[in-house]
Amino acid sequence: MELLDGKVLSETIKAELAAEVDKIKQAGGKIPHLAAVLVGEDPASQVYVKSKIRSCEQIGFKSTLVQRPAETTEAELLEIVQQLNDDPDVDGFIVQLPLPKHINEEKVTLAIDYRKDVDGFHPVNFGRMAQGMPAFLPATPFGIMEMLRRYNIETSGKHCVVLGRSNIVGTPMSLLLSRKGYPGDCTVTLTHSRTKDLPAEVRRADIVVAAIGIPQFVKADWVKDGAVVIDVGINRIPDATRKSGSRLVGDVDFDGVAPKCSHITPVPGGVGLMTVTALLMNTLKACRKEIYS
Ligand code: NAD
Repeated sequence: MELLDGKVLSETIKAELAAEVDKIKQAGGKIPHLAAVLVGEDPASQVYVKSKIRSCEQIGFKSTLVQRPAETTEAELLEIVQQLNDDPDVDGFIVQLPLPKHINEEKVTLAIDYRKDVDGFHPVNFGRMAQGMPAFLPATPFGIMEMLRRYNIETSGKHCVVLGRSNIVGTPMSLLLSRKGYPGDCTVTLTHSRTKDLPAEVRRADIVVAAIGIPQFVKADWVKDGAVVIDVGINRIPDATRKSGSRLVGDVDFDGVAPKCSHITPVPGGVGLMTVTALLMNTLKACRKEIYS
């Protein structure tokens, strides 16, 4: 079994991005600039946004954090989005989800200029991705694709079972892996909460992508010997042996499943770190106008 190490890989890619920034500086070009909008005090969101900002600093990108209280109105947030759309120095920005209940997430996502949508959530980017056109790919699936590519995981003709059909992970992952090219050319089964006999579906998989948000849900006897397992889940469970009283686990029962796999991502230290790195890769693309001129 080989670990798909998101920590090592994301550090490697970040070093490459930092080298790109040096080249841009030497040539007197524009430094990539990512902005992040955080509304409210959700602890997980605060951790994610801080890690995005810290990663920008680490590689020499410019970053801006726009932080607002949970009482911020939808109109105020839409005004912030408009300002970021109009700011020529900002190459890309994200609005961290989830938003407080009184704000319509769909409305906010639609208000983001798709040319700056480095999270890849806007329907223009989603539609272009589905048609195989150049697009900002959603950060988590993009990070997973990059991981498969850099670890030379064979995908052509493989049977991939994706668990979960969210717009940000499961559905785009199923589209990307079924697309022509590498990584891709998989035969994909997209499973969800209404799927009958999920273990039987997963047993057919050469590649499993678990994105459902239930701790340690995928068990050892669901997984075929030699399968590649990508665990997207980030779940906090109680753990009395830890000082914090809890720890993070994925959607896969790692200890049971890992010995059966050819490759598996750990949690933490797997897909999560690649998500942040993919966001940085998208921001560089936005700055270079690689997708939209
Ligand atoms: P979501 O909550 O939007 O969707 C969950 C999906 O799982 C749904 O499509 C649902 O049909 C399916 N599902 C729920 N119960 C099921 C069951 N019993 N059997 C089969 N399918 C079931 O999920 P999401 O936003 O895609 O997130 C999924 C997990 O991934 C969460 O743990 C989240 O924290 C994590 N996540 C991690 C990253 C990362 O960077 N690593 C990014 C996004 C999400």
